Amino acid sequence: MNDSKPTPDSTGNPARASLARMLELTRGEEIDCEGFAEHLAALVEGNVEPELKALMDHHRRICPECEEERQALERALSPQDAT
Ligand SMILES: [Zn+2]
Repeated sequence: MNDSKPTPDSTGNPARASLARMLELTRGEEIDCEGFAEHLAALVEGNVEPELKALMDHHRRICPECEEERQALERALSPQDAT
């Protein structure tokens, strides 16, 4: 009959929960390569929160390897061969 219907609860958003946990771990200061890689796809797609983007921008400056990864993914995702 009346099944428990899914409640529109924004706090149940897994992505947000993950972000909140990560920001808590890093105390809003820095992220490591693991955290960077975890959100790299979202960053390239422009789907990261401003706070997270700032952290990732900072990591790119101090970590050439991750910046290289980002550029590679950006190239891979951009329609460079479109005619
Ligand atoms: Zn890194």
